[in-house]
Amino acid sequence: MDHFLYRDGVLHAEDVPISEIAAAVGTPFYVYSTATLLRHYHLFDDALSGMDHLVCYAMKAASNQAILKTLAEAGAGMDVVSGGEYARAKAAGVPGERIVFSGVGKTEEEICQALTGGIRQFNVESEPEMDVLNRVAMSLGLTAPITIRVNPDVDAKTHAKIATGKSENKFGIPIARAREVYAIADAMEGIEVIGIDVHIGSQLTDLAPFETAYNKVAELTEALRSDGHNIRRLDLGGGLGIPYTQSNEAPPLPTEYGALIQRTVGHLGCEIEIEPGRLIAGNAGLMVSGVIYVKSGEGRDFLILDSAMNDLIRPAMYEAWHDIVPVIEAEPGVEQAPFDIVGPVCESGDTFAKERMMPPLSAGDLVAFRSAGAYGAVMSSEYNTRPLTPEVLVKDDQFAVIRARPTFDEIIKRDTIPQWL
Ligand SMILES: *Cc1c(COP(=O)(O)O)cnc(C)c1O
Repeated sequence: MDHFLYRDGVLHAEDVPISEIAAAVGTPFYVYSTATLLRHYHLFDDALSGMDHLVCYAMKAASNQAILKTLAEAGAGMDVVSGGEYARAKAAGVPGERIVFSGVGKTEEEICQALTGGIRQFNVESEPEMDVLNRVAMSLGLTAPITIRVNPDVDAKTHAKIATGKSENKFGIPIARAREVYAIADAMEGIEVIGIDVHIGSQLTDLAPFETAYNKVAELTEALRSDGHNIRRLDLGGGLGIPYTQSNEAPPLPTEYGALIQRTVGHLGCEIEIEPGRLIAGNAGLMVSGVIYVKSGEGRDFLILDSAMNDLIRPAMYEAWHDIVPVIEAEPGVEQAPFDIVGPVCESGDTFAKERMMPPLSAGDLVAFRSAGAYGAVMSSEYNTRPLTPEVLVKDDQFAVIRARPTFDEIIKRDTIPQWL
């Protein structure tokens, strides 16, 4: 459930008509609902309520500081994957003890930044990373709390570009080698082993791969404890999928996911962390754009929008489906027709949908892409020198621009001309 509903024939974000935001901000833009963000956070928080836990929002899904602050004030921690994200989380007021640092390529600078700024734990993904972490921590006279991300060799049955838990993926340490690597970690003076981390992929619509992975983590916990390690925290990653259409089968609910966690690892008495990104932000955001032209082609008609692949890359990159709906609700019973829905960028890949059934639309009308809150604005670029898409946050009947659209001047001034020109 989200908070984007039609009222009196106009799509609203909470109590604000989308058309009102469009008039104030111009199109395209992203709009997020505070109530939906919080609802999703609380679903997870409640699902784990029987266990000592922290929900660490995977902020790469949507990292605007207003979103981070909204979630952090509700009690969320953050999962960061770069020094930039770490700095953003800190700037939004998230304390270091609620930030976990994931990622296969943490640099020495990033490690130093997080160690000195305060960190809950590093999710270590390789032995070379652990060596660097140990060295940097010792040089600072600190101890780095870690979990080791294990790769359980589980097929997440999701899109190949977002599956991360198979042995051929670049992530984590093969689970079969884990005991050996934990022994190495234990001998390092700059490192304190806290627990185990696993994350098998994104947009999982079936709980079975989680169950397999978490059972393996439970087994490993027992084995490591028998080796003498004080395993007291399990980071179980993110990845729970969302419905991208209103018609398809609903993915499992956070309550079922929470029950699965309880069932597979609850008996171990560990503190539980999860790192949901998409499920918190995905259906909490729309991308709104305007129709520039309705163009009739040979055997197909095109809706040419003012948003493009630079604003929302998911269809081009992951063959993703987004429901696209008119902001002014179609009359009941009105005849729909198929359109290819495209942007103005000079690539055929700049296609949002093919032969999508749409009600009649004209130039100047507004459409909204649903489920665009996660991996939307964060993946936008200025390809074709199209200004970075603005972001808007709604709360009840208020809205605020939380990232402004840059002017052409601001974009152009970022370039500098060398003295020889
Ligand atoms: C991307 C990522 C997540 C979040 O995945 P979602 O599918 O958005 O829930 C969590 N943890 C790690 C390590 C990730 O890389």
